[in-house]
Amino acid sequence: MEVLFLGVGEACDEHHANTSVLLTTGDGCRILLDCGFTAAHRLFAHCRSAEEPHAVWISHFHGDHFFGIPLLLLRLWETGRTEPLTIISLQGGRDKVLAALELAYPGFEAKLQFPLIFKELDPGARLEFGGLTWQAARSIHSCTNLGLLLQDDRHRLFYSGDGRPTPETEQLMQGADLVIHEAFSLKDSIANHGSVLSCLDLARRADIGHMALVHLERNVRTGGAEVITTLLSEYPRIWLPTEDDRILLGDTPDLVPAR
Ligand SMILES: [Zn+2]
Ligand SMILES: [Zn+2]
Repeated sequence: MEVLFLGVGEACDEHHANTSVLLTTGDGCRILLDCGFTAAHRLFAHCRSAEEPHAVWISHFHGDHFFGIPLLLLRLWETGRTEPLTIISLQGGRDKVLAALELAYPGFEAKLQFPLIFKELDPGARLEFGGLTWQAARSIHSCTNLGLLLQDDRHRLFYSGDGRPTPETEQLMQGADLVIHEAFSLKDSIANHGSVLSCLDLARRADIGHMALVHLERNVRTGGAEVITTLLSEYPRIWLPTEDDRILLGDTPDLVPAR
């Protein structure tokens, strides 16, 4: 499984695209995790075929996590996609996505020449797609957000979306080769968001292979850079990825940067 960081930023960061990750499974299935305001353009730079991605996951319905989807649909229409696009989210995804599309490009849904397939994933339930088992659990966020575990027969990847960990998300990420977690603040000072320090606590408690910290508040990322670098120097398996970082979840316990 290959993990490509398309964006690592929060909603308003002028230097980093909204947090978004493109997965490529061993079978070549490409799955986009979140597609915010600025993520779609980063995807376009990496997906040259109109038939990619095969699926999109929406962790929650904040604009920096799904307002790029109307633009994605426009581009896929324009470039002649024919295969279905599967959109997986918590309950209500169909209504939210189609409402956003109607606001962005009125009447455009009827023009799409490829099917949209909506699937819903409830906390505690399982879903099979792309050769992966999908499971989700609620975090603590200002609207309902699902942390996602994707699993094949060899690898486990957890993607937090937004929000502080809960006992349920922590349980889900146990044994994960890679946890991609939001760390909006330095410490838990912002309600409904995770932090760098709480992620370090999580890494100490949970059985986690590696952890990538994303979605840092822009002033924390810049003003707190020195402090964060010092903190992370004690945790060689936790890092701050940046755009275009590409990682292979291989058979070895260490992550291998993809070429
Ligand atoms: Zn959010
Ligand atoms: Zn966000």
